[in-house]
Amino acid sequence: MQKPNQRLKNQNAIITGSSNGIGKAIAIAIAREGANVLINYHSDKEGAEEVAHTISKFDNPGKTIVCKGDVSKEDDVLAMFSQVHKNFGPVDICVPNAGIQMDAPLHEMTLEQWSTVVNVNLTGQFLCARSAIREFLKNGVREGISRSAGKIIHVSSVHEVIPWAGHANYAASKGGLVMLMQSICQEYGPYKIRCNSVAPGAIKTDINKEVWGDPVKLEKVKELIPYKEMGEAEEIGSVACWLASDESEYINGTTIFVDGGMTCYPGFTTNG
Ligand code: NAD
Repeated sequence: MQKPNQRLKNQNAIITGSSNGIGKAIAIAIAREGANVLINYHSDKEGAEEVAHTISKFDNPGKTIVCKGDVSKEDDVLAMFSQVHKNFGPVDICVPNAGIQMDAPLHEMTLEQWSTVVNVNLTGQFLCARSAIREFLKNGVREGISRSAGKIIHVSSVHEVIPWAGHANYAASKGGLVMLMQSICQEYGPYKIRCNSVAPGAIKTDINKEVWGDPVKLEKVKELIPYKEMGEAEEIGSVACWLASDESEYINGTTIFVDGGMTCYPGFTTNG
């Protein structure tokens, strides 16, 4: 791992669903660059505390707080933002990462399966983005801290563009996220608020461990990836961290796919 260079020093960040998986990697990457980080968890308090402990071992890391909260609940999201205020100060970086799958063929999908996924994956992202924008508008550009008034980095998915049979609730939530992200860019770009998405392909985390835990399924998924390997959470962490930094200042309203080429539809390599 390369040494961090404090690109996010004196900034304050919220990363949802960061007790494990991709959120954990993003929290670690951002805190290693010097930002203070709120580590949000849904049920795994120990996991969140472990992330805080890992961060504390780095050179000059940001401070951390661990905060329970359900991103689909308005009050919980508001409480997370007040926690950052109370402990660190103004929020500069918001990474709505929490996401779930509840798979079923569409004709068998219950309303509950549909709503639960949309509530976490899309409404949760809206609630976080809305609170972040309120903050950014209030604070404006904090001179000497960042060139932006604030950064939102939505964690999306390749399924914001690739349809996914048997997972329509998930694909619809991520497809909706594109328009949320781009509308925010259009509406708040003039205030120097930047909003982008990072879209992972197949990354080894709990959400898909039944795939990478099974050699047959793993080989099948590799057929969908030109790079022929599943990705690691840290590969999303580094990109999210860069999107939060001034190095990506002119990037606004776009999705960065981190997918080993999955969105290049390798099924067409020898067909068509
Ligand atoms: P994961 O299951 O390991 O982590 C999801 C996190 O979200 C967990 O910490 C979980 O506790 C949290 N969470 C779930 N519901 C929540 C709620 N209501 N409130 C707060 N937190 C909640 O999966 P992951 O792979 O780390 O997923 C992170 C994000 O990356 C998700 O948005 C997912 O859609 C996206 N993603 C993952 C992959 C992949 O291959 N792993 C691919 C594309 C997109």
